[in-house]
Amino acid sequence: ARLANQIAAGEVVERPASVVKELVENSIDAGATTIRIDIEKGGAKRIRIIDNGKGIAKDELALALSRHATSKIKDLDDLEAISSLGFRGEALASISSVARLTLTSKPEAQESAWQANAEGRDMAVSVKPAAHPNGTTIDVSDLFFNTPARRKFLRTEKTEYAHIEEVIKRIALANFDISFVLTHNHKIIKQFRVANSTIQRSKRVAQVCGQKFIDNAIEVNCEHNGLHLHGWIAQPSYFRNQNDLSYSYVNERMMRDKLINHAIRQAYADLLPSDSYPAFVLFLQLDFREVDVNVHPAKHEVRFHQGRYVHDFIYSVCNRALKNELD
Ligand code: ADP
Ligand code: MG
Repeated sequence: ARLANQIAAGEVVERPASVVKELVENSIDAGATTIRIDIEKGGAKRIRIIDNGKGIAKDELALALSRHATSKIKDLDDLEAISSLGFRGEALASISSVARLTLTSKPEAQESAWQANAEGRDMAVSVKPAAHPNGTTIDVSDLFFNTPARRKFLRTEKTEYAHIEEVIKRIALANFDISFVLTHNHKIIKQFRVANSTIQRSKRVAQVCGQKFIDNAIEVNCEHNGLHLHGWIAQPSYFRNQNDLSYSYVNERMMRDKLINHAIRQAYADLLPSDSYPAFVLFLQLDFREVDVNVHPAKHEVRFHQGRYVHDFIYSVCNRALKNELD
């Protein structure tokens, strides 16, 4: 069982940042409103996620750690309308096959908390009583301790941490109603408070993208035929030499999608110097049935059923906003 999980882990667990992404997405799926992320040594030594979500019942702890166990898809219909972030039931099993993972949880309805971990070649799960408030803590230490080849691919602590911070920023932008605390080596590095008002939202965007981005941004918000695009796009004068400020989301899921990026680039086409990139934070919302997210295990890409239509919508909304600004 461990070997099969390690093979699967190759797809899901590329580096510490991918572990962080999977775990934080689980916390979001569990309805958490507060998520704390503690990192030590760029995540190689420790990744601990503490949430106040709905928790995992004692009887389901072992299942949560086993492969292809997901509580999120009830039948085939669900598969076509995936609304939760995770749905493959692979993350926890994969991570616990390449690290030491401890899962501690308490659902509100359960009197006390329980702790589980999977060990050995057969990944047998042992469960014992623990102390924990409502919610879940997942503690992952010594990533890749048993896969030296993979461990060798880890970059410096600073680089791995930077990837983690980027993941948290991307997630923070998509979840204004959740507060996040990120620490590295016991120091608080980022703290995002719940952002309900427009002002608080712009503040969070400024925290992630810099005040200068917000000061130079045009707000877009357009709905048409079931497609909704909102967010911020920078004035053409605020172009970047690196593609480091492009955040796009489809139904709250962060994406690095060719079609979306292409549509936005087209919108800026003649307005930007060549070899430069636009800066934007954009959220696209559409019917879950219009998009297939099950394209890539790391889930960065989507497939739109009506790609051309989505492309042209993004292009025209952004292009119009930029042209209006120039008039
Ligand atoms: P998936 O997210 O694809 O369902 P995972 O391996 O990431 O698979 O998680 C397995 C299961 O463990 C989830 O379906 C969920 O029921 C449970 N789980 C994981 N993390 C949490 C959490 N933070 N809070 C509550 N339940 C969780
Ligand atoms: Mg998951």
